[in-house]
Amino acid sequence: MDLTLHPERRTVPLAPGRPVLESALAARVRLPFSCRGGSCGACRARLLAGQVAYPRGRPLGLSDADVGAGIALLCQAVAQTDLVVELDQVRPAGEAEVKTLPCRVERIEALAPDVRAVFLRLPAIEEFRFEAGQYLDVLLPGGLRRSFSIASPPHDAAPIELHVRRVPGGAFSERVFRALAPGALLQVQGPLGHFVYREPDGAAGPLLLVAGGTGFAPIKSILRHLLERGLTRPVHLYVGARHEADLYAHDWIGGQCAAQPRLRYVPVLSMASAAEAARHRTGLVHEALLADFASLADAEVYAAGPPPMVAALRATLPARGLPAGHLHVDAFEYAPR
Ligand SMILES: Cc1cc2nc3c(=O)[nH]c(=O)nc-3n(C[C@H](O)[C@H](O)[C@H](O)COP(=O)(O)OP(=O)(O)OC[C@H]3O[C@@H](n4cnc5c(N)ncnc54)[C@H](O)[C@@H]3O)c2cc1C
Repeated sequence: MDLTLHPERRTVPLAPGRPVLESALAARVRLPFSCRGGSCGACRARLLAGQVAYPRGRPLGLSDADVGAGIALLCQAVAQTDLVVELDQVRPAGEAEVKTLPCRVERIEALAPDVRAVFLRLPAIEEFRFEAGQYLDVLLPGGLRRSFSIASPPHDAAPIELHVRRVPGGAFSERVFRALAPGALLQVQGPLGHFVYREPDGAAGPLLLVAGGTGFAPIKSILRHLLERGLTRPVHLYVGARHEADLYAHDWIGGQCAAQPRLRYVPVLSMASAAEAARHRTGLVHEALLADFASLADAEVYAAGPPPMVAALRATLPARGLPAGHLHVDAFEYAPR
């Protein structure tokens, strides 16, 4: 079976039973992708001919309307016939080269009970260009790889800052908490992903930045990038966490708000104690946002974090008038086993 890309007319062979994206990447066709778990929608494509199936079930990022419109998510779709697809999203021009580089752990800091910042120093002679919001993969023995968003902005990325949440039993995150020490060598590959901040054309309404847990990492990169350039529109930063102690950037954000009247910060706690509830908004982060905005007709949203948060935003924001193409998401899918 073959995949033909429209309008380039490029054709690549499809490996039976494997996701279409995998075959394209194996053939060195760099299709857009991000989460590789069917949530973020970066690999959306229009199926012009042929049929696909989803052996792992309908992906979270694919709505009934998408299916009706012939949209497929290539990171999950498995071809049943030859395919002709048109990409929904064109690769950004001037995209940085993806490099595989050694790096040294410069330092590790505790941010919250289960989150650490890991600062990586790349070889001085290597230029590592990326855009605010992108991620890199840490390459592990045995061909394993784990994705981590870059929390640094492009203008201040030496060292590169990552935020790692501890996943009990996790192959890499447990190592960060138990064994990784300054001086350790790692291999990374990047930059990756199409969750990147783009300046709007012309006048723009409010910008909503939404982070769930360590989804704050790419949002921090975008926010610092924007602050460096000077805010040209109101920015509303919503951060979802379970408890107050998990709001690991609370003081830093407070400092930014004090210096920048156009920046508003709304922390939202999903498992607040009574004392925490007296000090903070409670509930799910998308619910707080919906409570605050009766209309999102002139807004633009960048959101990163757990797949259920991303799915909730996808399911609810369009009904508030958010224009198509104004919701940019990065879903932190677990790596496949
Ligand atoms: C684009 C992208 C960006 C990401 N950015 C970040 C980031 O900035 N910070 C960050 O901390 N993570 C991020 N992740 C998630 C990260 O890549 C790893 O999946 C995560 O760190 C777990 O890896 P591990 O090796 O510790 O666990 P694994 O060995 O992969 O998992 C061990 C077990 O735990 C389960 N599991 C894995 N993750 C979770 C979880 N979050 N909750 C519950 N169970 C889980 C697995 O299914 C498995 O059973 C990102 C993921 C993607 C796709």
